Amino acid sequence: MSHTDPERVEQVRANLRAARSRIEAACTDSGRDPEEVSLIAVTKTCPADDVRILASLGVTDVGENRDQEAAPKAEQTADLDLNWHFVGQLQSNKARSVARYADYVHSVDRAKIARTLGERAAAAERDITCLVQVNLDEDSRAGVIGSRGGVDPSDTLELADRVEEQERLSIGGVMAVAPIGGDPSQAFARLYEVACRLRDRYPRATVISAGMSGDLEAAIERGATHLRIGTALLGEREPIVG
Ligand SMILES: *Cc1c(COP(=O)(O)O)cnc(C)c1O
Repeated sequence: MSHTDPERVEQVRANLRAARSRIEAACTDSGRDPEEVSLIAVTKTCPADDVRILASLGVTDVGENRDQEAAPKAEQTADLDLNWHFVGQLQSNKARSVARYADYVHSVDRAKIARTLGERAAAAERDITCLVQVNLDEDSRAGVIGSRGGVDPSDTLELADRVEEQERLSIGGVMAVAPIGGDPSQAFARLYEVACRLRDRYPRATVISAGMSGDLEAAIERGATHLRIGTALLGEREPIVG
């Protein structure tokens, strides 16, 4: 039996309300309709009870970045019928597990993972919407330490083609994390250009997953359609050890 602490419910409710007001204010500033902007609650390091609380407050989309944590949480909350977004680095040996619960994978960053995930999705008889993760950090591309992952912007279309070759995968758009220490607004403007080029080839690929707790305003200003928000909803995380 899950047991939700009323104090925690109130805290998350207040956080959610504050996050929604930030989103609305940013939409007003950019002349955008808040209906165009979806909120994904990133629940990493938080218990399944928090997922239940979020769902009870109307959240429909949750995100996780590690399969070891996401798989059991998705199972424990399967009755809630949520959309699960996998937003972390995906290793081939986790593709089988991720294909069982993920509705969206935001972090497709190489042809091999598109192929493996496609095979696993077919085996699980599930459809997955994939986003190409784009590296917006010019200083740290090509696997240099400190890189936050993703393909060079110029490789986006090629990787989208690889996703589309897979029967059970479809290309949904792009995702990026703003480079540490850089100007998020500039980075997200770059992502927007990449997203437009992708949409020219695949009109259905309309998702721009950008913006976290600290930079959601810049992301909205630059056309984000999906925000991935953790800390602003659930509080500071304990650092992960190991
Ligand atoms: C943790 C995480 C987020 C959420 O970040 P916050 O700063 O807590 O809002 C978003 N995207 C990815 C890929 C993450 O790993």
